[in-house]
Amino acid sequence: MSAATFVLAINLFIAAIFAVSFGVVAAFQKTSDAARWLSAAYALGIFNVVLEFILPFQEDPRLVGIGIFFDFLLATLLIVVGLSRHYRQPVPWRLLGCILAASTAMIVVIIGWPRESFARMVLYQSPYAVVMAVGAWVILRQKARRTLDLILAALFALSALQFLAKPLLAAAIGSGARPQDYITSTYAAISQTVGAFLLIANGLLILLILVRDLMEEMTARSETDKLSGLYNRRGFDDRVGPGIAMLRRTGLPGAMIIADLDNFKAINDSYGHDSGDEVIAAFATLLKEAAGEHFVVGRLGGEEFGIFMPGVEASGARLFAENVRTRFGAIDFAFLTGAMRATVSMGVAQVGPGDSHSDALRRADAALYQAKRDGRDRVQVAAPDAMPEHPLETLARPLERMRQGDLAG
Ligand code: GH3
Ligand code: MG
Ligand code: MG
Repeated sequence: MSAATFVLAINLFIAAIFAVSFGVVAAFQKTSDAARWLSAAYALGIFNVVLEFILPFQEDPRLVGIGIFFDFLLATLLIVVGLSRHYRQPVPWRLLGCILAASTAMIVVIIGWPRESFARMVLYQSPYAVVMAVGAWVILRQKARRTLDLILAALFALSALQFLAKPLLAAAIGSGARPQDYITSTYAAISQTVGAFLLIANGLLILLILVRDLMEEMTARSETDKLSGLYNRRGFDDRVGPGIAMLRRTGLPGAMIIADLDNFKAINDSYGHDSGDEVIAAFATLLKEAAGEHFVVGRLGGEEFGIFMPGVEASGARLFAENVRTRFGAIDFAFLTGAMRATVSMGVAQVGPGDSHSDALRRADAALYQAKRDGRDRVQVAAPDAMPEHPLETLARPLERMRQGDLAG
């Protein structure tokens, strides 16, 4: 067995591992079909190695040779499609189609040229170099690139250069007198080894990036409420906890707001659950817009929302809450009849340096309860270190909500 045949056997194995690995990722990836394209690309890679194996046994090597050329080209094109899909870039179909068409024309032209012709070797490798460069461009084009993405782009650029360097190497040391002799040449051993290295490095890196983004996507989904697009209770708590610890360390002020839509059961009962959902979504959009990137906003359950505001005093939080309350009350929902309006009540609490997460929520909730008692559609600020006026009633509220399954979040 020649060195190149040995490397080929390894390449077959590697391509199969990646085809299967990307297939497994594809089974978990719900929002993108990138892994399916990549799995197909590596499956073509397996077929390519099989063709390389049978090439030496061909009387006329042209058909298998052309098969190898197009199979490998197709595999690289599919990788670019997969990367575009993954990075949510438009697939450059027209560009890829042009490369395929130009390569076909080129092969027709050079097929009769002598094997050792330098121009033939350069032309033969150039489509691969171009596709790799397109791959690097797809990776670099997206704005949110990080270290791993940059390394991948560099590897693609390196792969492009490698294809351009191949003819130089072949010219220097020869690539076998006939296509059938290629596999036993030193050139083939070097070329296949470098190819194997790049195959592993590229495949591993793409796989790593896919898994990284898949894990982030799954975490984000488990922390996000579908209807409102806000953090759910888990996402909210996971951010408020460290936020409160930061306030304790720095001595900065902070505020917690709990908002609860008024008479929401009546809206549900009169106009239906879908209309209720529409009101929840509208309030969430308003909150998100008002809070921007500065504050943590979550849907704590049902029609109840939390806003954690680090660096803000209760007075500032009250202004924020009043603004949201007024804007929400002014929304004209098409389905509301008569004098019916959707309104919200909010409780605001300053978070002191000694306060825990649950202290802050409890005091904001007590203030909210006061706002409800005072007639709804209003903002109530908790006294700095006030105990709830009616401890039994504040205890009764969570109990009532729990009974309604409202806290399930
Ligand atoms: P209050 O002014 O005292 O808050 O009165 P309320 O009617 O809003 O009372 P409460 O908070 O107890 O009722 C909340 C209702 O919200 C009960 C539940 O059926 C409804 N709800 C909870 N989650 C959803 C949801 O996702 N969509 C819709 N449409 N309704 C929901
Ligand atoms: Mg309510
Ligand atoms: Mg409620």
